[in-house]
Amino acid sequence: MSKDAQTGPAAVPGCIFCQIAAGRIPSIRVYEDDDFIAFMDIAPQTEGHFLIVSRAHYELLGQVPDALLARALPLAKKLSQAALRGLGVEAFNIIQNNGEAAGQAVGHWHLHLIPRRDKSEIPLKPGKPADLTRLPFVAENIRANLK
Ligand code: AMP
Ligand code: ZN
Repeated sequence: MSKDAQTGPAAVPGCIFCQIAAGRIPSIRVYEDDDFIAFMDIAPQTEGHFLIVSRAHYELLGQVPDALLARALPLAKKLSQAALRGLGVEAFNIIQNNGEAAGQAVGHWHLHLIPRRDKSEIPLKPGKPADLTRLPFVAENIRANLK
């Protein structure tokens, strides 16, 4: 077992993904290791939509240790390649919601991997043209808070 899995926070009672990770609630798994499980989404956006979930309970991206995050994207790469091959699909989205306003319904950190066959399948709305008078200030608010 990896260091992060050993030292991560305890399972949260009532958290559905903690219960899935512990095997107390069934899931259709596509992958598991010491730090992550991946299983099919019960309400898929498209056929083949699955989730990559940390075994340990973290709610938001900012709470996940960097060492764990460093393993998450290579895993997403590996599983996406398997999914593309297995499903005969060429396109996919990785989505990760943080907070209720962003559409996060389950407060346990996870990545969505969503195969795409047609861009009309999920309504990713095009953005509005940027307000060029505000854009430099918005960017400065981000840069000024880099640590
Ligand atoms: P989010 O809105 O980013 O928190 O996404 C939560 C996702 O978890 C949704 O796509 C749900 O369909 C999915 N989900 C919730 N409960 C389960 C479950 N028991 N098994 C598989 N997927 C689930
Ligand atoms: Zn949890």
